[in-house]
Amino acid sequence: MLKALLDIGFLIASVGLIFGLKRQSDPATARSGNMLAAYSMIAGIIMALVYPLDVEGSLDPVGFGYILVSLAIGTFIGIRSANKVEMTGMPQLVSLFNGLGGLSAVLVGYVELLNLNKDAESYYSQAGSTIFALVVGAIAFSGSLLAYLKLDGKLKDSQVAVKGHQYINYALLAITLVMIAVVVMSGANNVMVSILLVISLIYGWSFVAPIGGADMPVVISLLNSFTGLTAAAAGLIYGNQFMLLGGILVGASGTILTVLMCNAMNRSLWNVIAGNFAGSGSSAAAGGPQGSVREASAADTGVMMYYAQKVVIVPGYGLAVAQAQQYVKQIYQILSDNDVKVVFGIHPVAGRMPGHMNVLLAEVDIPYDALLDLEEANEELATSDVALIIGANDVVNPSAVEDQGSSIYGMPVLEVWKSKNVVVMKRSMASGYAGIENPLFFKPNTQMLFGDAKKTLADLVSELKNL
Ligand code: NDP
Repeated sequence: MLKALLDIGFLIASVGLIFGLKRQSDPATARSGNMLAAYSMIAGIIMALVYPLDVEGSLDPVGFGYILVSLAIGTFIGIRSANKVEMTGMPQLVSLFNGLGGLSAVLVGYVELLNLNKDAESYYSQAGSTIFALVVGAIAFSGSLLAYLKLDGKLKDSQVAVKGHQYINYALLAITLVMIAVVVMSGANNVMVSILLVISLIYGWSFVAPIGGADMPVVISLLNSFTGLTAAAAGLIYGNQFMLLGGILVGASGTILTVLMCNAMNRSLWNVIAGNFAGSGSSAAAGGPQGSVREASAADTGVMMYYAQKVVIVPGYGLAVAQAQQYVKQIYQILSDNDVKVVFGIHPVAGRMPGHMNVLLAEVDIPYDALLDLEEANEELATSDVALIIGANDVVNPSAVEDQGSSIYGMPVLEVWKSKNVVVMKRSMASGYAGIENPLFFKPNTQMLFGDAKKTLADLVSELKNL
C-alpha cells in the first residue's frame, strides 16, 4: 500500500518537475515554474525519506537523525546564502552549489562502489553507474570549485594554467580512463577507489584551469550538466525514477544551454574546452588608445534621445553593478510617452549569468516585448538614431566582427556602431570581463558618458524631465 502511494507520489512530483521546467522557458511564468519545481523536489525528498518504511518496515533512528540534522544545516546555509547573495555574485553561488551536488555524487559513488560484489551478474552495469557518479561527480566538484574561485577573482587564469595546458588534460584524461578500467577489472577496494577519486579531482581542476575570460559561462553550464548526469546515475544506483528523471532534466537542459551559449559566441565546445580563449593575447588587447575619444554630457544625451525616433538601449554587467534599473525604467517611460520607440538589445551573455539582463529589467516591469534578442536588436540598431550602452563592453565590441586577430573574433555581438549615434555609459576606459580593448569607444559616431551608471542615469532622467 505504502509502495503504491510512494510510486504515485514520485510520478506526480516528476510531472511537477517537468511542468516547472517548461514554465521557466517564459519570463512571465518563470517564477511560478521555479516554485512548482522546488515544491516537487521537496515532495521528492520527503518521499525518499520515508521510503525505507516500505522496504525495511521501520526507520533506523540513528541514520534518520543524521539525515535530518544534515538536511537542517544544508537548508539553513542554502537559504541564507541565496538571500544574501548580490545578483552579480549569482554565478559564483551557482558554481558552488553545483560543486556540492558533484560532491554528493562522489560520496554515493564511493560508498556504493565498495559495496559491489564482483561475482554478481549485474556487476558491470552497477559498476558503470557507480564509477560514473564517482568520477564525473569529482570532476564537477573540483571544476566548480575552481570556477567559483576564478569568478570571484580569488584566482587568476595565469595562476592555474600553463602554456599547452590541454596536453596535460589529455594525459590526465587517459590516466583516469586507465584507472577506471583497473578498478572495474580488479573489483573495487579502498586504495584503488581512493586513487581513482584523487585523479578525477585533479582532472576536474585541470579541466577548468585553461578556460577563462568570456568562456566561463559556458564551462559553468557544462559542469551543471555533469552534476545533473551524476544525479541520474545515483537514480540508477538506487532504482529511484524520480532522481533519474530530475538528473536527466538537469543534464539535458545544462547541455542545451551549453550548446546555445557556444553558438552565441560562435565557438565550438571543443574550442572552449581546449582553453583557446586567448584573452590578453589578442591583437587588440591593452594596445593603448586607438584614437581620440569624444565625451558627452547628460544634457547632450538627453536632448539626443528625446528628439530621436528610435532608441536602442543595451544593458550590460555595469548596470547590474550600479543597480540603476529603476532609472532605466523612467527613461523608457519618458521617451515612450514622447512617442520615441525604445527597445532593449539583450545579448545572451551580457552580465554574469544567462538571463541576467532579463531578470534585471523584469524587476522594474519593463514589458517583455520591448526586450529583443541579438538578431532582432541588430536589425533595429541598423535604423536607430541612438544606441545607449549602459555598462556593457564585451557584448558591443566591434573587434568580434572587424579584427580577425581578436580573441573574440566571430562571436556575435550587438552591432551598436551601426546606429547614427552611440553613447557609452561607463566609469572609465577600462576593459570588460574578457580583458580586451574596445575600438567602439574610438568610433567617430561614439560619445562616452563617464561616471557610475546610477549617477549618470539619474542625471539623464532629470535632464529628460526638464525637456
Ligand atoms: P563587461 O564585463 O564586458 O563590461 C562591463 C562594463 O561595465 C565594464 O567595462 C565597466 O567599465 C562597466 N561598469 C562596471 N561597473 C559600472 C558602474 N557602476 N557604472 C557604470 N559602468 C560600470 O560586461 P558585458 O555585459 O558587456 O559582457 C559580459 C561579459 O561577461 C562577457 O565577456 C561574458 O562572456 C562574461 N560572462 C558572462 C556570463 C553570463 O552568463 N552572462 C558569466 C560569466 C562571464 P568601467 O570599469 O569603466 O566602469
